[in-house]
Amino acid sequence: MRNIDIHAHISPEPFIAAMKAGENWHGITEDILPMHLHNPRTVWTPEERLADMNSWGADIHVLSTNAPFYQYNREASKTAAMHRDCNDYIAGLVKQYPTRFSGLATLPMQDPEAAAAELERSVKELGLKGAMVGDHVNGKTYDNPEFRPVWKVAEELGAVFLIHQGGDTIVSPRLDDYHLSNAIGNLADRTVTFASFVFGGVMDEFPNLRVCLSHGGGYVCNGIGRMDRVWEVRTEARANNTRKPSEYLRNFYYDNLTHSEPALRYLIDTVGVDKVLFGTDWPFDMCTDWPISDLLNMESITLEEKEAILYKNLEELLGL
Ligand SMILES: [Zn+2]
Repeated sequence: MRNIDIHAHISPEPFIAAMKAGENWHGITEDILPMHLHNPRTVWTPEERLADMNSWGADIHVLSTNAPFYQYNREASKTAAMHRDCNDYIAGLVKQYPTRFSGLATLPMQDPEAAAAELERSVKELGLKGAMVGDHVNGKTYDNPEFRPVWKVAEELGAVFLIHQGGDTIVSPRLDDYHLSNAIGNLADRTVTFASFVFGGVMDEFPNLRVCLSHGGGYVCNGIGRMDRVWEVRTEARANNTRKPSEYLRNFYYDNLTHSEPALRYLIDTVGVDKVLFGTDWPFDMCTDWPISDLLNMESITLEEKEAILYKNLEELLGL
């Protein structure tokens, strides 16, 4: 059975070469990317990556530049220059291995006009399918009107946005130990992001926006009843959105990375299997060891559902 992975990261080879030489790349050094020091897969060449993909039956990785490259807190022009190189790098790999790789851009979201322009370049000139962005930009959530130019261009292009945390999350100020920023905060951030799109009226203004909430959408499905309740009883929760939050669930896509079969079953039952996409989080330690066979072995998921998740939904969404 074919498979397409929407959630697969990469670091640009020029950065890895600079890191090994003890140099910086666009001002970035290995110090802000400690994951590269402890996980050999993050510095593998594309050919080593393909050999690994072959070993567990992965067909297509939709490549996204690793989240630490967001660099939303730097001067926008410097981040934009680096992101152009990141996007060119991924586009080069897609061109070199068109049957194995597709790609998402990374965007300088601290300058929404520049981000919109780079999205347009990435999709129209480079052939990338959309972009991966953080849950917030220096604390600003996506209900902020300044991001509207990005959503407008994204909707016009049919670009897909993969929402993915970067670094500290909403739980970090409370408890910054035990890697809970990723275990819990990642999912909490995703839930806030869903709410910012919905309560902020973004999905009303851009109903055809294609947004994939990574990590199964975080706690969205579990928390949707309470979001509906606040919409019913509080006027400020109805200020921008015309429908109750649960009626926007199908405006989004969700990857299947829940690390729990009952949670995946509940996700499918809540949003519909046509909104669930295969995602692994390769090459990081929090990905599952055998993502394809694990999914295929799930007894509560039907064969038709497995086919939809593994490839049919992404074939249609990305035109692959
Ligand atoms: Zn990831």
